[in-house]
Amino acid sequence: MKEEIKACNSVLDLIGNTPLIKLNKISAGLKGNFYAKVEAFNPGHSTKDRIALYIIEEAEKRGILKPGDTIIETTSGNTGFSLAMVSIIKGYECILAVSSKSSLDKIDMLRSMGAKVYVCPANVSADDDRSYYNVAKRLHEETKGSVYINQYFNELNVDAHYKSTGPEIWEQTNGLITHLVACSGTGGTISGTARYLKEKNPNIKVLGVDAFGSVLKKFHETKEFDNDEIYPYRIEGLGKNLIPSATDFDIIDKFIKVSDEQSAHTTRELAKKEGLFVGYTSGAAFQAVKQYAEEGEFDENSNVIIIFPDHGSRYMSKVFSDEWMSEQGFFDSVNMEEALKIEI
Ligand code: PMP
Repeated sequence: MKEEIKACNSVLDLIGNTPLIKLNKISAGLKGNFYAKVEAFNPGHSTKDRIALYIIEEAEKRGILKPGDTIIETTSGNTGFSLAMVSIIKGYECILAVSSKSSLDKIDMLRSMGAKVYVCPANVSADDDRSYYNVAKRLHEETKGSVYINQYFNELNVDAHYKSTGPEIWEQTNGLITHLVACSGTGGTISGTARYLKEKNPNIKVLGVDAFGSVLKKFHETKEFDNDEIYPYRIEGLGKNLIPSATDFDIIDKFIKVSDEQSAHTTRELAKKEGLFVGYTSGAAFQAVKQYAEEGEFDENSNVIIIFPDHGSRYMSKVFSDEWMSEQGFFDSVNMEEALKIEI
């Protein structure tokens, strides 16, 4: 028999089918069973690989994209990286309009994946011609054969999770999931995953995670946009200062807000206790689990699935930097020796 080489055709074959990993030590003392859906196992190291591939392939199916065309988006974060990665493999140009607040590291990372990055001034309003939002819109209008991903207002962002993340969790848990805990930014992850799971079992509770400084929780409770909720915070990718149409507020049972400081410590705790080197919003998600547990949300029979959106390597100069943690004052209220784990 002919020997066959077992290889993927490209990194795109590795998107999705991420593992569920049981959390053993960090959950000690909490009632229930806790499992993380670790999205860092995607080849672009985040859950955004799923939406990048899905949205691009939908555009291809609809005849909107042909080889050599252009993908446009306004993010220096995970979505930008995933779009750049998918574009390389599929032969598209990728243009990302990003704010001048983005770190040089992030911009270099996107450029190294072949993206064209337009750095736009951060200190102008969204309706200014120079804002990254308007630059992206203009580039889209001027570039024939271009697709503007617009993840906050794109229903395909939700569909991507309805078609992949939701079914994976249902199968991996043999339908035994009782609670889903997920961060909300665009809302695509929580809305699409929850929609699939609640179709399978409407009793599954969907618990959202929001940030202090974001408007989502208040909007969920009152259906009113409250400007007073909005102020700067550190966690990137979680919460928002506008209401994304990609968030299905009706499918989310509850939101809880987490702080920058507690989420940072919990992110570090995940690495130290579970060997999971995951990003800041993964820490935020588990911080929310601790708070939901305090509110009595879980019991011994609960099977809680928590989505961990990305990898820790993207936060070396933030939560995993002791200097950054000190600058934020995040070590002020804790035992320094314990937090820094000084080895003498
Ligand atoms: N965590 C990180 C690190 C993210 O980049 C994002 C996306 N903004 C989220 C969580 C939230 O995911 P979603 O946009 O699907 O709500």
